Formats: sequence, structure tokens, C-alpha cells
Amino acid sequence: MQTKNKLLLIVALMLLGLGIATIINVSLNFRDYSINSATEKAKMTASLVKDGLTAHMVNGMMDKRDYFLGQISQNEGVQALWIVRSEHVTKQFGGGIPNELVRDAIDKEVLRTGETVQTITEHADKILLRVTIPYIAEMVANRPNCMSCHDVKHNDVLGAVSMEFNITNMRNSGMFTILKILGINLLFIIIALYLINYYVTPYMKLFQNLQNGITKAYSGDFTHEFTTTVSGDGKDIVNQINTLFRKMQSTFGDIKYNLGTFIPQGCVSSSDPLYEAKMIIGELSDIYKFKKTIEIDASKTVVYGRITDILRTKYNIAHFALYEVNNVTGFRKLIYISHDESICFDSVNDDSNLCRAHRTKTDVISTEFIDLFKTCNAQDLKYICLPFTVNTDNSLIISITAKDEKDINKINSQIPSIKNYLEAAKPVIESRILMDKLRETSLKDGMTGLYNRRFLEEFIDQFMNQAKRSSEMYSVLMLDVDYFKKVNDTYGHDVGDRVIVEIGKVLQESIRESDLAIRYGGEEFVVLLYNASEEGTFNVAQKIHSAFANIIFEVGNGETMQKTMSIGISKFPTDADTIWKCIKFADTALYVAKTTGRNKIVTYSAEMSDNSNLR
Ligand code: GH3
Ligand code: MG
Ligand code: MG
Repeated sequence: MQTKNKLLLIVALMLLGLGIATIINVSLNFRDYSINSATEKAKMTASLVKDGLTAHMVNGMMDKRDYFLGQISQNEGVQALWIVRSEHVTKQFGGGIPNELVRDAIDKEVLRTGETVQTITEHADKILLRVTIPYIAEMVANRPNCMSCHDVKHNDVLGAVSMEFNITNMRNSGMFTILKILGINLLFIIIALYLINYYVTPYMKLFQNLQNGITKAYSGDFTHEFTTTVSGDGKDIVNQINTLFRKMQSTFGDIKYNLGTFIPQGCVSSSDPLYEAKMIIGELSDIYKFKKTIEIDASKTVVYGRITDILRTKYNIAHFALYEVNNVTGFRKLIYISHDESICFDSVNDDSNLCRAHRTKTDVISTEFIDLFKTCNAQDLKYICLPFTVNTDNSLIISITAKDEKDINKINSQIPSIKNYLEAAKPVIESRILMDKLRETSLKDGMTGLYNRRFLEEFIDQFMNQAKRSSEMYSVLMLDVDYFKKVNDTYGHDVGDRVIVEIGKVLQESIRESDLAIRYGGEEFVVLLYNASEEGTFNVAQKIHSAFANIIFEVGNGETMQKTMSIGISKFPTDADTIWKCIKFADTALYVAKTTGRNKIVTYSAEMSDNSNLR
């Protein structure tokens, strides 16, 4: 029920209650008043009859009393009037006229007791007041002496006058009065309700209007225009609220517009500009912190780690993989995967263009395309693949999977926000890739493509500490071409260079991925073989040794040349607890090979160090 109607109902009920209370009060008082006034009238009439009869008696006119009584009976409201004689009077003067006979028990009781009796009898059509008043014999100064005529004693009952009054009119006029009060009350209630309605309605409308406007404002819409027909303070309040709302609307509009320039549309979407502003500021703040953090990260691996952390913790994405694509070679490398198996076929790693997301540079969502699973191994999984270009040479692909369409739709709604993080990370990833490239070139030998001595100096301690912790072993091979100077001297430096390039190839073909080949200097090479047995080490050394020895170099003029090399071997950490000592021991073994005829493989033994005159 509307507040206004409630108010009107309460007022109407209160006024009605007041009216009913008044009517009950008036009707009760009115009844008492009617009976009292009829009783008074009866007493006066009885006293009049008594005095009249006394006068008739004193003047000897008792024979005319019937006329007198008849006249009195015609008084307004008198229904019946009769006289009754006591036994004393009847004995002295006889029974009297018919109107002087005892009619009922009340007459008898009054004659016996000498007390007035008064009764009210209510009939459907009328109300009768019956009053019977006794005449008592008395002998009082200045008044006729009853005993002078009647043969009675003082205080004996002479008779009584009985009267019946019809007081129906009084009831009717009472009812009429009540109806008048009721009518006046109703009229008053109607006027009161009308006035309340007239004065309250505009306030109620204003109240409703305020409520509507505030409800809209709660959901971020401050465009509501408040109106009122109330003048004075009400009007002032409406004007002030309108001004406030206009300010809010324009301020939040500005905030939203300005924030929108920082973050692309769609990542935070709400019809409430306040909420939207709060979310955008939160998003900006998170991205700012993320950017500040990754700016001081040393490598792209750490940055990738932070991106995967964000996907896991902020977006609660459980299953996803992050790939790095080399746009030039088309190779794709797995950086991180949260579960065992990738949904991509292995062939995509060799040809990234098989990946639709990468090829089309658009987001691929399995729920939006039919039969996408033909290009990957998703089966009953739903997935989203996001391509992201870092620069012309490098791209990323994030492949997210979920069992549920609901989950994938939720993730889909987070994509604009995820892309904000990728955009923030883009310049940092780009610069770390560049750094890696520079580092790579500074750590690699341009002629052979092998690592150089600088790489060894920078990273070998880290490798070896790790190796020691996990009880890994390395075999160290030190290689040197026999009589290399002669090549330069006889055929020129170009031929010498070709020999060095060929050694690079031989080494790369002879070792595994977990091994390392380093151009240590000039035509000297160091090879680190990971977890190789003594026999295995020797076999690799032999393989390198013979592969090199079998190379036939064209040296011009149809002439050819073959070269040999000497190899020294030591073992880490068996021979020494640092790699540098092991390299030195391998060099010692190489020296032994050189000094004992060259073109051979010598494994280090402790005596070689003792026998210092060998150096
Ligand atoms: P040994 O059997 O004792 O090793 O005799 P060797 O002549 O090979 O002596 P050594 O190993 O000391 O010779 C190294 C030579 O390699 C010296 C230098 O002229 C030559 N050399 C070093 N770097 C290069 C290079 O990049 N290109 C060419 N062509 N020659 C190089
Ligand atoms: Mg040499
Ligand atoms: Mg040398």
C-alpha cells in the first residue's frame, strides 16, 4: 500500500474512532437525560394532581375531579393517568369513579409502602415511563390538614397517582441527534481526508520522485531530473539535488572518458560509471604494479613466469599453455604448460602457421567455430587461443582450456583484461629478447657458431655449482690442431679459417644437446660432456678425432690436405673440485699428447701434474 494511502487510512480510522466514541457518549447521556426529564415531569404532574384534588376537596368540588383529571391526561406525553384510593379512603368515601381503581401490582405496592415506584418498559414501537407517586396524609402548618376530612392518621397512605408517559419521541430525537453527530463526523472526516490528500500528495510525489532518482543513481545513472509542485523548502531541495546530480553526471562522465583512454573498451564494462571508474582504476593500478615489477626483471623467462602467475592467480585459469613463436623460422617453443598434455599437435611446433590463432592473428574460441578440434587435440575440451605479437620476429600464443562452456565464456570475458597485461609486458619482453640476442652474439663465436671463452667464464661456475648439487659429472676435452701454424704459413689464413669452421661442424655433430662445445681460443676447443662414462668420453673423443682426421681440405691447384688433432681429457669432479682446475688438467693431458708425438688422445692422471718437467 502506498504511504499516502496508509496515512489517509490511519487518519480516517482515528476520526471514525473519535466519532464513534462521541456517539456512544452522547447516546448514553441522552438516555439518562430523557428519563430524568420525563421523571421530573411525572413528579410535577403528580404533585399538580395532588394539589388539584386537594383544592377540589377543600372547595367541595370532588364531583368535578374527573374533568380535572381528564384535562391533565391530555398533557403532551401523558399516555395514561389514574388515581387509586387506599383502603382508608375507600372505607370512608367508597370505591370512587372507575378511574380510581387499583390497576396493577405497582399500585398495590405504592399504597402498601408509601414509596414512589418508577419503571421503564421498552416496546418495539414505544418506550413507556411508569411513575406511581403516593399521597401521604400530613398535618403541616400553612397547608390543608388532611386529617380534617380523612379519617386517617398522620403519614397514612391516602392514595396514589399513577401515570404512564410515552417517551418514544425522546428516543427518536436521540437517534436523530446521533445521526446528526454521525453525519457531521463523516463530513468532517471527508474534509480532513481531502485536506490531507491535497497537502500531502505533492510531498508524496516528491518523495516518490526522489526515490526513483536515487535508485537510478545507485546504478550509476545521474541523468534523473527531479521535479515538484511543492514550493518553498521542497523546491529548494529539488533544485539543489538537480545541481548535484548534473555535477555528478558530468564528473563521472569525464572520469570514465579519461580512464577509457588508458584501458581499451570491454575489459571493464558496467552501466555504473562509479563502479566502472573504480574497476578501471583498480585494473590500471594492478597493471602499473605489474609493469614496474617486470621492468626490473632480468630475463624474459622471469617475465613469462609473471604472466603465467597472473593467469593462474588473478584470473584463476587452471589449464593453459604459453608458447613463444619465432616468426622468422616459424618454430614454436613451449614456455609453460599447467598440465601434462598440450591440446596442440606436435607438428605445430615445427610450423607455427598450422596454429589458426597465430596464422590469422585473431582469438580462436572453440565455442564460436565448428570443427576446430580438427586442427588440434582438444577432443571434448573447450578452448581459447590468444595470439599476441611482440614484434616482427616474435609472437606469443596463450592456449587456455576448460571442460565447461560456462568456464570458457567466463575466461572469454576476461580476455580484454588479460591483453592489457600482455600489452604492458610487450616492451619489456621485446627488450629482453633483444638483450638475449646481444648476449647470444657476444657469447658465441662468429666463425664456428660455438660458445666462446667469455661464455665459459660467465656461466661455467653456475653450471658446475648446479652439477655439484645434483651430483652430475662432466668430462672435459681439450682439443688442439697439430701443426696448425703450418697451414697458415703454407696455404694462407683462409684455409686455416676453413679448418677452424670444419672443427666447429665436427664438434656440433659429435656431441649431444646436453653437452657444450666452446672455441677456447685460436684452434683450441673445450668440450664438456654431460654425465659421460670414462669409456663414453673416450669414444666421443675418438669420434671427433677421426672425423676431423678424415676431412679432406681442398687447398687449391687440385691439391688436398688432411690434418690431425690432439685431445686431452679430464673428469669433473673426479680429478678436481672446480671446472677451471679440470680444464687445466685437460690442458696438461693435451700437452702430454703434444709432447709425446701428437695426433692422439690422452687422459689426465695425477702423475702428469707431479711430473712438472713435462710442461
Ligand atoms: P702444435 O701442434 O704444437 O699445436 O703446433 P701449432 O702450429 O698448431 O701451434 P699452435 O697451436 O700454438 O698454433 C696456433 C696458431 O693458430 C697461431 C695462429 O696463427 C693460428 N690461429 C689462431 N687463430 C686463428 C684463426 O682464427 N685463423 C687462422 N687461420 N689461424 C689462427
Ligand atoms: Mg695447434
Ligand atoms: Mg693451439
